[in-house]
Amino acid sequence: MAAAESIPLVAGNWKMNGLVASRSELAKIIAGAGALTGKAELMVCPPATLIADFAVAARGSAVTVGAQDCHVAPSGAHTGDISAEMLADAGARAVIVGHSERRTDHHETDAEVRAKAQAVWRAGLIAIVCVGEQRVEREAGKTLDVVGRQLDGSLPDGATAAKLVVAYEPVWAIGTGLTPTQGDVAEVHAYVRKRLSGRFRGDGERIRILYGGSVKPGNAKELLTVTEVNGALVGGASLKAEDFLGIAAVYR
Ligand code: PEP
Repeated sequence: MAAAESIPLVAGNWKMNGLVASRSELAKIIAGAGALTGKAELMVCPPATLIADFAVAARGSAVTVGAQDCHVAPSGAHTGDISAEMLADAGARAVIVGHSERRTDHHETDAEVRAKAQAVWRAGLIAIVCVGEQRVEREAGKTLDVVGRQLDGSLPDGATAAKLVVAYEPVWAIGTGLTPTQGDVAEVHAYVRKRLSGRFRGDGERIRILYGGSVKPGNAKELLTVTEVNGALVGGASLKAEDFLGIAAVYR
């Protein structure tokens, strides 16, 4: 079987949504995921409260479970925080770090995101590192500068295709229904690829680069068939199995 990192990844970021009753939605995703085996990897990143439960439910299926954030330390006096080791223990396979909502709501810097990615690797998990420009930065023609700076600051040395995924998520496209043009996506993804291969050589050629920001079943084909787009990070549309599977169906 092909190495997991050589097929596209469609990851659902449930954000602060989901209760125990959401198991039924996961069950529908698991039921639909079989058709994608070997063609795309499906991952659900529920809130931390559901990771252990979802990991048990998804065991042996074509769906993996991820987390949305972690603390940099493995354990200690950090009330309310969760370490990457704990997430691994609960059954997570990956952790999203540097999501724009964390960068904005919790003032996370590139240096903190980088430290979190290292913590994720220390726990043996895949780091999904998010980068992306604000609307004013795009309008000022600074998109590539911003993304380049975030990549330099947020990615630790030693990245490999097996332990790093990069998600390009224009902040203005997240949860807004707005999306960049295919040309804009192609330009940024080509730039990210160039930076990754410049820094990580052969691995940089193979690290998956996801597009994220208002991906829906209706626009998935347009966005996910762009060169150097190796999957999607999906927010709102990942909460409904039908929509999430409808997006992943691009790879069937
Ligand atoms: C996200 O938050 O990672 C995201 C892509 O959200 P949405 O799909 O809702 O725009």
